[in-house]
Amino acid sequence: MQEFDYDLVIVGGNIVGATLALALKGSGLKILLVEYQSPFQALNKKQAYAFSLLSREIYSQIGLWPEISSQLGAFREIILSDGDYPATVNFDRAELDREHLGYVSEHYVILTALYQHLESNKDLSWASETQVIQIERNEHYCLTTIKSQEQIKVIKSRLVVGADGAKSPIRQQAGIITRGWKYGQSCLSFTIKHQLERNDIAFERFSATGPMGILPLPDNRYQIVWTNPHDLAQSLLKLDENEFLARFQEHTNNLLGELEIVSPPRLFPVQLLQSDHYTLSRLALIGDAAHCCHPVGGQGLNQGIRDAASLAQVLKLAHNSGEDIGKIAVLKRYENWRKKENMVILGFTDLLNRTFSTSLLPIVWLRRLGLESLRKIQPLKIFALKLMTGLKGKKPQLT
Ligand SMILES: Cc1cc2nc3c(=O)[nH]c(=O)nc-3n(C[C@H](O)[C@H](O)[C@H](O)COP(=O)(O)OP(=O)(O)OC[C@H]3O[C@@H](n4cnc5c(N)ncnc54)[C@H](O)[C@@H]3O)c2cc1C
Repeated sequence: MQEFDYDLVIVGGNIVGATLALALKGSGLKILLVEYQSPFQALNKKQAYAFSLLSREIYSQIGLWPEISSQLGAFREIILSDGDYPATVNFDRAELDREHLGYVSEHYVILTALYQHLESNKDLSWASETQVIQIERNEHYCLTTIKSQEQIKVIKSRLVVGADGAKSPIRQQAGIITRGWKYGQSCLSFTIKHQLERNDIAFERFSATGPMGILPLPDNRYQIVWTNPHDLAQSLLKLDENEFLARFQEHTNNLLGELEIVSPPRLFPVQLLQSDHYTLSRLALIGDAAHCCHPVGGQGLNQGIRDAASLAQVLKLAHNSGEDIGKIAVLKRYENWRKKENMVILGFTDLLNRTFSTSLLPIVWLRRLGLESLRKIQPLKIFALKLMTGLKGKKPQLT
């Protein structure tokens, strides 16, 4: 009989890792969540995300939705436009018969709620300001070496889950190969306050320099994710606030009226990445550790939340039927489910970014044909809308 310290160790206690921990609450599995940052550092990330209809369903299932919903922005329309082409594609909530087409959450809102709910989980131990420095796996167990201040400990578990972000040391140490590319683009992410009457429209604006997402937050604010070629993004970042705002207003034709910057721009390089494997014996990857996509369409975190919920469902079912949760046969159920679905989103966001971030005439004609098709062929429009809102594919069931 093996003696385990924990059933599973989750490496990375940001939104994706913490969502997995919460989704496993009540499963009877003993969990250690290891996060390198302090809770203060983790909560203070100045980012906001488009939060999909499916993420809402998952957070309803794990009991978080009622708590966060009043703190989120919500949109009833998405307006997609292409440079100065006059015809836009307007997606409306009525087309899906939903109250909203999606939500926008600040990082701290989701993470605060997750951390609070995890406090009451008796099967969860939390190691913050602790780094995983090594993992050894064999057929029967994993040994995870963790370092906290100068203390080193070795933890024995059935399974290790890497929710440790795009650079995933866990993935690299396991020798899992990734495929993908860097985009030659960077995103400027910032928040503005506006004076418009409506605050329930999301915009996806394409131009030859790159896409721009405009996402409504509570209190008449918008989160902006503005993609540009690296050099242009760097030079925009160096401008003072007034000059920067003037360039933004010029680029958007004063779409949002009078504005004030409430959180200054920060720069993020963007990449596409897909791991060859999401699982090995006694190891699973979720979130950015497994895949990354271009921020156009606001999909990355939503994919990670869906990974976490899907893995939780697979692990719960396996545990309830007496299976060993670290066995590759169990973990493959998760990989076979999620890898294909993530590939579709990676391909979709890549296609959007490539076809719209160019002024090459044949591609401009093609994409305008695509836009017209989206405007006129309703089933195509509904397909695109369902893909963006997470309503395509197999939905995780946690209750
Ligand atoms: C500009 C921009 C805009 C975006 N907008 C959206 C959006 O609108 N909607 C959306 O869905 N997605 C969006 N994304 C994508 C989203 O930000 C990511 O997909 C998501 O944050 C990934 O979460 P994660 O938990 O997988 O990884 P991370 O947030 O990177 O978390 C990994 C955690 O692991 C910890 N860690 C790493 N190594 C170790 C170790 N050895 N030991 C212990 N802990 C460790 C880290 O400290 C970190 O807390 C955007 C991305 C960018 C760049």
